[in-house]
Order: sequence, then structure tokens, then C-alpha cells
Amino acid sequence: MRADITSIPISEVFEPKDGCPICRLHAILEERMASYITGPAMMEPDIRQETNRLGFCHGHYRKLLAQRKRLSVGLILESHLKELEKNAFTTSLTGKLKGMQAKAKEDCFVCQQLDTSMHQLISNTCHLWAREKDFRALYAEQPYFCLPHGRMLVNTALSVLPKKLQPDFQQITAERTREYLQALQEDVSHFCKMFDYRSDKSEENWGNAKDSIERAIAFLTAEEIE
Ligand SMILES: [Zn+2]
Ligand SMILES: [Zn+2]
Repeated sequence: MRADITSIPISEVFEPKDGCPICRLHAILEERMASYITGPAMMEPDIRQETNRLGFCHGHYRKLLAQRKRLSVGLILESHLKELEKNAFTTSLTGKLKGMQAKAKEDCFVCQQLDTSMHQLISNTCHLWAREKDFRALYAEQPYFCLPHGRMLVNTALSVLPKKLQPDFQQITAERTREYLQALQEDVSHFCKMFDYRSDKSEENWGNAKDSIERAIAFLTAEEIE
């Protein structure tokens, strides 16, 4: 994947202090990849070769379609289907169809690229935290880290940060994640109580409970409910 697609200034992503910053980083990267694949990458033979071979998962086909370039998606599918026809089946020497090749797991070009890039960007985040005082303050001011991204941050820090910086990084990341988990528990309980026949169901009594189900699922899975 081209470097200009995957290099994202971390501080800028942390600046809005709105939700999980790593979810935002992931969304920016995903959007850039979808736009690149249906745009300039149409003319890049090495990328086309990979997308022909791997195809995409359902979620990423949807993201490609959302770019509103149906012809690009059509051309990508045309060559992917052709490649599948060539490689997904086994034939006998006489050309008789024998069956289908087993596939180890559902591959997706975007998922694979995202994995690599997210790993790199999270590692950059840890290094930035270690290097810059201002970023350390910005990191501490985040409203929360969702559970999968909180875990990714602490696991990556274990392998990239010097030992003496570990405790502070682990603590602030865990704190931000746990505080939000506690707030969510309250909101979800409030949501459930609102269904009790004795509850005052007026608008103002809902507080933060109304979207707590969607927010809890997003916190647990790092994915928004659409
Ligand atoms: Zn997240
Ligand atoms: Zn995918």
C-alpha cells in the first residue's frame, strides 16, 4: 500500500477528543484505502494482482460500493471472478471438473492491509507518547479507548516501549478504558430499568441511556452499529 495512504499524523487524530481515537484512525485508513482501490489503484498492476487474488470481505465490498464508483467495482469484480474461475476449481488431466480448492480462511485485501498499517500506526502512537510531553497530555485527555484498541495499545507498548515507561502507559490506557466501561455499565443498567412499568418514561429521565446499547457494542467490538 502506498506510503501516502497509510501515513497519518497521529496527533491530529487525537486532537478532537471525541470517542476512541484509534477507532477514528482505523476509519480514516479504511476510507483512504477504499478511495484508493476504486481510484488510482485501478491503474496499479501490482495492487490489481493482489485484489484479483484475494477479493474482499462483505464489509469491505460495502465500503468500496459506498465510494460511488460502480464501474471501478465492476472492473475489480470482473477480473476477480475471472481469476477465481481459473484457480478455485481442480480439473483432471482431461479437463474434467473434479471439485473446488479448499480455502484456509476468508481473505480480504483491505483487512490484510489494515492489519499491517494499524500495527504500524499503533506502534508509532506508543513511540510518540514516549517521545513528546505534549502528546502524553493529549493522550491522557482522550474520553476513552474502546476495549479492542485499549488492548492493542497495551500489548504493542509491551514490545515497543522501554521498561521504565511501561507502568505509566499501561496505567493511563487502562484507566481511560475502565472509566468508560464503568460509565457504560451505569447507562446500560439505566436503559434496562427504563423498561420497568414503574419507571418514569419521560424524555429527560432517559439521561445517557438511550444510545447506551449501541455505544456498549461499539466499545466491545471497535465497530459502530450502522
Ligand atoms: Zn477503538
Ligand atoms: Zn475486509
